[in-house]
Amino acid sequence: MGERKRIPCVAGNWKMHNTVAESTALVKELLPELEGISSVKSILCPPFTALNSVAKLIRESTIHLGAQNLYWEGQGAFTGEISPQMVAELAEYVIIGHSERRAYFGDTDDVVNKKVQAAISAGLQPILCVGETLEENESGRTGEVVKRQISVGLMDLSKEQMRGLMIAYEPVWAIGTGKAATPEGANQVILDFIRKEIAHFASEEISEMIPVLYGGSVKPDNAKDFFDQLDIDGALVGGASLKAEAFVQITKAAA
Ligand code: PEP
Repeated sequence: MGERKRIPCVAGNWKMHNTVAESTALVKELLPELEGISSVKSILCPPFTALNSVAKLIRESTIHLGAQNLYWEGQGAFTGEISPQMVAELAEYVIIGHSERRAYFGDTDDVVNKKVQAAISAGLQPILCVGETLEENESGRTGEVVKRQISVGLMDLSKEQMRGLMIAYEPVWAIGTGKAATPEGANQVILDFIRKEIAHFASEEISEMIPVLYGGSVKPDNAKDFFDQLDIDGALVGGASLKAEAFVQITKAAA
């Protein structure tokens, strides 16, 4: 078996769950457990309203903080939006291009690209989500879709800017459905389409250094099978990140 080339990472996407009180309670459960798993980078992505409280709780810990979205403009008359600078005051990471944003909020590949560029300019590390729908998968278009999402999503980025990226391969049909991809299948998509595409327009070296996570119905009982794949560097976890025990077990599986 080959050697793992990148530090494993497990990120929890809490989506639109958890009030400030609920977020605080969850972090208090997670903190002592995650602190002991030093070989894995843990990232928590609470809703915007809980970022500040979670930031304070994890300040002295090894846990990292991420947001779930941002707007690309720096400031102005954009009621209800949150700027990259506002996010960067609190968080290090930001999820961009999640399939729920693409499906419900009009985040096209061009919008995703603007957000990625704005996030990097503000000093944030984007977690760029890509993945095909069931229909795209069944019509054999996975490669085409994922390559487009990568090439447009990362358009105009310098090689230097790409070094801070993280990618999450999240087949849409696997998100929140309980039907995860096969670990071998996900690894192959990452290798054939994600890493190759990055190598093509950046470099082999950058493609090899970017962590690529798998997301889609990762649970404690299937996590290890994904992490055993050499090109899967961890997981972006939705549902199972809302339960401390499940998230800790998944993180332990990555250690
Ligand atoms: C997600 O929202 O990114 C996700 C992967 O969700 P779930 O783990 O619930 O499938």
